[in-house]
Amino acid sequence: MTITEPELITFRTADGLDLRLRRVGPADGPAVLLVHGQGVSSEMFSLTEIRNATQVLADAGYQSWLLDWRGSCRLPYNESGPPYTLDDVALYDLPAALTEVRARIGDRPLFVVAHCIGALAVAQSLTAGLLPGLAGVVAQGVFLTPKVSTSTRMRVLLGSELIGSRVNHLESDFRKVGLWSRRTLLYAALSRKGECPDPTCRMVHHGWGMGAELFEHDHLDARTHDRLAELFGTISLAPLAHLRQMELAHAVVRWNIDDDRYRALPANALDHADRIDCPVLLLSGTRNAAWLDSNKLCHEVLAARNPELDVRYVEIPSYGHLDTFIGRGAALDVFGHLVDFLDEHSAGQA
Ligand SMILES: [Zn+2]
Repeated sequence: MTITEPELITFRTADGLDLRLRRVGPADGPAVLLVHGQGVSSEMFSLTEIRNATQVLADAGYQSWLLDWRGSCRLPYNESGPPYTLDDVALYDLPAALTEVRARIGDRPLFVVAHCIGALAVAQSLTAGLLPGLAGVVAQGVFLTPKVSTSTRMRVLLGSELIGSRVNHLESDFRKVGLWSRRTLLYAALSRKGECPDPTCRMVHHGWGMGAELFEHDHLDARTHDRLAELFGTISLAPLAHLRQMELAHAVVRWNIDDDRYRALPANALDHADRIDCPVLLLSGTRNAAWLDSNKLCHEVLAARNPELDVRYVEIPSYGHLDTFIGRGAALDVFGHLVDFLDEHSAGQA
């Protein structure tokens, strides 16, 4: 196996945003496009303080392609870009990223591994037929049937009501908010609960996580917990109304119904699950407080409605949501399931 130096690729979407891909791992293995959640970045797959996903994939012979889509905290768009919804991610970001990767891997197998809101966008794009010919898809936390707790629903409602006011984004780093800014009361409301004494951690859970615990503390390396402010950036509120609409429908739905530019996207992704042309692995921690048992539900719904699809569901005992990727023991507890799935479906394809 030849390991090449990481390569950074910048590419432009059809609507004019510059996004990034980083290639890590063996030069000639099957490829895996890694899709992060909203407001974090591709760094969630490559934390240096733990044995991370890209290392495990490289050791198993896979080449990682780390995507930073427009919701990445390593890009400027959450703070200063044009407002966007998941429709834009599904229509512009993911297909463009796939094209960039394919141009460089030839006919080697290509998988997608997606987390949280990244997985919702993959579901939307995949059922639109915009990600054809994948060897397999792994979705963590949620896929076609988003479902959240009542308290999270209330906070998403609060967040979506703020759109149109002067507040269009939130900081995750409590130190940037300060004690007396005009947003202090809002932040106090969002972060008042929580047992962890670290205000940024409380902000991450109760602001970003909209009231849900985003990870199990026990699973985090202390060094990861100490740099949550680096890992979580500014949160754009723009996609929240779309998320709220999806959650109320318990389905991945299109936001821009009357805009012809988005007509390629299905009005309801679940109704077009038959367009999924590859095996799917649905992952979830048993303690996923952000999306509850959304992926278990997704598995049941797909098994009943689309029995021809190759979809399986794997639960990770004692894990929450983000710790399935950033947890100090994720290499042992989670990534093995990933590699098993990739091995099974890349055999004979290359
Ligand atoms: Zn904490």
